[in-house]
Amino acid sequence: MSREEFDTTYTDNLTCPHCGHEHDHDFEGEYDEEFDNCCDNCEEYFDFTVELALKYNSKKKLTENEGKNV
Ligand SMILES: [Zn+2]
Repeated sequence: MSREEFDTTYTDNLTCPHCGHEHDHDFEGEYDEEFDNCCDNCEEYFDFTVELALKYNSKKKLTENEGKNV
């Protein structure tokens, strides 16, 4: 009963758990805090949190010779 019908976790946009409407949300605030929101589409209230996902990219350093690209 309390399960969300829509994919509302780790979504790119803020998704309403009531109707699935995706909000073009400009997030300003603290990460990992819970916020109240009213859906633009169905006008139901829901809570949401925002997580900042860190991703790493690494690559090998070029050796001196490779750096010269000769
Ligand atoms: Zn909604």
